[in-house]
Amino acid sequence: MIVLGFESSCDETGVALVDAAGHAIPRLLSHALHSQIAMHQAYGGVVPELASRDHIRRALPLTEYVIKQSNLTLADVDVVAYTRGPGLAGALLVGAGVACALAAALGKPAMGVHHLEGHLLSPFLSQDPPEFPFVALLVSGGHTQLMRVDAVGSYALLGESIDDAAGEAFDKSAKLLGLPYPGGPHLAKLAEQGDAKAFNLPRPLMHSGDLNFSFSGLKTAVLTQAKKLGDQLENRKADLAASTQAAIVEVLLKKAMSAMTLTGLKRLVVAGGVGANADLRNQLNAACAKRGIRVHYPELHLCTDNGAMIALAAGMRLQAGLEALDGAYSFDVKPRWSLAELGAKSLPSAG
Ligand code: ATP
Ligand code: MG
Ligand code: FE
Repeated sequence: MIVLGFESSCDETGVALVDAAGHAIPRLLSHALHSQIAMHQAYGGVVPELASRDHIRRALPLTEYVIKQSNLTLADVDVVAYTRGPGLAGALLVGAGVACALAAALGKPAMGVHHLEGHLLSPFLSQDPPEFPFVALLVSGGHTQLMRVDAVGSYALLGESIDDAAGEAFDKSAKLLGLPYPGGPHLAKLAEQGDAKAFNLPRPLMHSGDLNFSFSGLKTAVLTQAKKLGDQLENRKADLAASTQAAIVEVLLKKAMSAMTLTGLKRLVVAGGVGANADLRNQLNAACAKRGIRVHYPELHLCTDNGAMIALAAGMRLQAGLEALDGAYSFDVKPRWSLAELGAKSLPSAG
């Protein structure tokens, strides 16, 4: 079964093909990505209307490219999947519109996918795929969540950020340090030359006893520190970057380990853009090794948004029998959509 997947929830247009045969993990046949980062950089963040227009421009050329790369034809596609949410409404509508129109033209079913389910399952495309059950630490630009994952489609929320996401904390702090958008990777790079103990920044909710996070206070602390430094900021930027990263990573590490203790599970899956952070990976690896926990990550290039994870999630849901595909091509998008709400889509057998 060949699944064509479209991702367009934010500022990356991703298209991919997977082969979801039998019950093995779907195999990635080809994927292509166009990042709009350069286009939005001048504005210091994503401009939704520009994002939508660019998705329109990129979707079909990228589709032609992945089809050619896989040596298949469009007629070989069995299902067309797209990101239904969460994300920017206009950007989602473009992906959904293109996917449904293409599916209708091909006479094949279309299927909406939850963007975070894509992130969460993306480590299944790595060389070292996880097995169920596991705890997932989802750390992206818009979300910071700990989930208990027992199977495809079975996601129980253990805790989440009550305000900013970890990626947002990276990006907003980076912006205060004058780094380009999106700041996460730039801040991480600068932090390599800094002293992580130079500034004592807050670790909010670190000892709250639950699995929730709060990162909105961190940017204020970074701003206060930057102002205090005044002319000295330029010389101390790397130290401030390293201290900021240390604060974020320490909280993520602490809460992830608490989730392992609480669930008693021995497998941790990290997903989302911040999962590419080297300091986070190093610290999680060390802590997990000590506790006999296996930890799994997506391939570095599949941590941030991509089409491969959407095609994969669609393929895995279909294999798990969670989707009732109908021939309807009407669609809606869900700019706000909780992953914990996700179950089986009204299967005929379930009435
Ligand atoms: P969501 O998936 O919640 O809708 P999103 O799609 O914007 O949000 P992702 O694409 O998963 O998020 O990840 C983007 C985020 O990851 C950005 O905030 C970016 O700064 C951050 N990021 C990427 N690489 C790194 C890194 N090496 N270190 C820290 N942060 C990083
Ligand atoms: Mg992005
Ligand atoms: Fe994302």
